[in-house]
Amino acid sequence: MRPLVALLPVLLAACATTQSALSGDDVGTVAQAAQSCSDGTNTIDGEFPGSGFARCEVLGKGWFRLSIEPEDAKVTNCSAWYAFRALGKRADTITVDLDYASCGHRYQPKIGLPGKGWERLDPDAVELRTVGDLRNARLTVPVDTTARILAGQELLLPDAYDSWLDKLTANPLASRAELGKSAQGRSIDRLTIAAATPAPEQVVLVGRQHPPEVTGGLAMIAFVERLLEEDDLAKAYRARFTTQVVPLLNPDGVVNGHWRHATGGVDLNRDWGPFTQPETRLMRDMLEGIEADPNAKLRLFLDFHSTRYDTIYTLLPEMETDPPGFLPAWLADYAARLPDYDVRVEPGHNPDLPVSKAWVHDRFGVPTATYEIGDETDRALIRRLGRAAAEAMMAAMLAADHAPE
Ligand SMILES: [Zn+2]
Repeated sequence: MRPLVALLPVLLAACATTQSALSGDDVGTVAQAAQSCSDGTNTIDGEFPGSGFARCEVLGKGWFRLSIEPEDAKVTNCSAWYAFRALGKRADTITVDLDYASCGHRYQPKIGLPGKGWERLDPDAVELRTVGDLRNARLTVPVDTTARILAGQELLLPDAYDSWLDKLTANPLASRAELGKSAQGRSIDRLTIAAATPAPEQVVLVGRQHPPEVTGGLAMIAFVERLLEEDDLAKAYRARFTTQVVPLLNPDGVVNGHWRHATGGVDLNRDWGPFTQPETRLMRDMLEGIEADPNAKLRLFLDFHSTRYDTIYTLLPEMETDPPGFLPAWLADYAARLPDYDVRVEPGHNPDLPVSKAWVHDRFGVPTATYEIGDETDRALIRRLGRAAAEAMMAAMLAADHAPE
């Protein structure tokens, strides 16, 4: 074990291009106990933000077993996150069994190659093995003297959002502020996109309530960047609407490698109504603040997520919204911008299920939707989808029948 300890600073430095270490304002610590195991030649560890496994065992030379468990017993959603780091004394392959405590294997492994970003692990390197009623996975993992991270999705950590927000705020139309703190004291940021004279009508976007939902986060990044471009559509939109973006509502869950929850044992997107968690209370207070401001008017709310396929959860068609007609106009324009792509829409409304879409609509009367991207949707397509959704949103909001007082 001693060589590993000596190597850790090197590993962190080596991985800086594919995942970032805790930044200065990440005052919380990684919740899992430090975990690592080594066969003397190859080492697996979880000592990085976003790591996800409960235990590591050596089963033989070059053969490891990782126990994959949810963060608490109340997790019911099968988004079985895993992430580990592998290192060898020479270039080789090792076998890593992912043994699930529940739910079974969902995410196709991604591998972070230092200096090269992320790619999907060769599908031939993934053998699914059914044990009882669980689907476990056996991975053949390339190791080298430079550590690689294997994870259910590419890591999209608080530091990456921090850099992204910094980059966006080079544009004078974008500004950032701390909306508040997570339960573990991490910053939850708000980006505001506004013209020089801020428009009173407000569009609110939120992302990453659920930690593993990286693909929804990637779509949101593309969506937001589109709002800042200098074409006529974006200029007209910004002249009329101010956009408030909370891209990472659950930094604690992301850093701790959770499947679903923040640190309070609660699904944040089942807490819009009870508001038992500090993260959801920040969103409530922001939205109520807009409502209470005589110079502001909430007009639209979109929540970005991931699931097994691309879909958009909307309100029921007969539900009234102000502005009226936004959702069908947005979806029709979105589909028109993507002629080679089938837009899937799932209308629904359960007022007893305390999700953001229902609560924001029922409280403020505005159109709301949950924009979902598939776990394995092609990353270049995600970028196109995010941009098209933003363009269609801007066009539909500009065309919607508005009656702000
Ligand atoms: Zn979600």
